[in-house]
Amino acid sequence: MAEFHKADIEKLIDGVLPWPATQDMLKSAKDTDRFDKYVEIMQSRVDFDDPILLPLTPMLFIVAAGGERVVKCHCGHAFGDYRINWKLSALIHVRDDEASISEIYKGREMPDPAWVQIREYICGGCGTQLEVEAVPRGCPPDFDFLPDLDTFYAEWLGRPLPDTATYEDKTLELIAEWSN
Ligand SMILES: [Zn+2]
Repeated sequence: MAEFHKADIEKLIDGVLPWPATQDMLKSAKDTDRFDKYVEIMQSRVDFDDPILLPLTPMLFIVAAGGERVVKCHCGHAFGDYRINWKLSALIHVRDDEASISEIYKGREMPDPAWVQIREYICGGCGTQLEVEAVPRGCPPDFDFLPDLDTFYAEWLGRPLPDTATYEDKTLELIAEWSN
């Protein structure tokens, strides 16, 4: 496969391709070089020094910080263990009535507020809107992506991480702590 140049990857990041297409490119990447260049570019753009293990979005990253694998915003604000849905540690703005939903949807496109909530997940450090989801009322926050980091590094990149972490969704453990 042809080597991707760093400048090409920067164009992808900067919107020549939409983010889902960029993600597909990364997922289908057989050459680790492309992944490494992508991470290198992102690392140069974020406001923290902890090494990026995996970008989740252009604004949100799993990083190695003090022996832990945590989710961080580009500004450096930490959301905790990457195996816990980071949305639980974000500021959440909920639109669940006609007035608030109509600020972003017009006319027939507008979802029925009796059924649907729009949730905006915002970084408590810098105020960036990190994710938006339209979900049925009462539905728990969608855990978009829990990557198997150890398998990814060992089998795809061919360089296992120095530590390992059990691959499991720990979100319910945090919720259980809250209810104690
Ligand atoms: Zn932030």
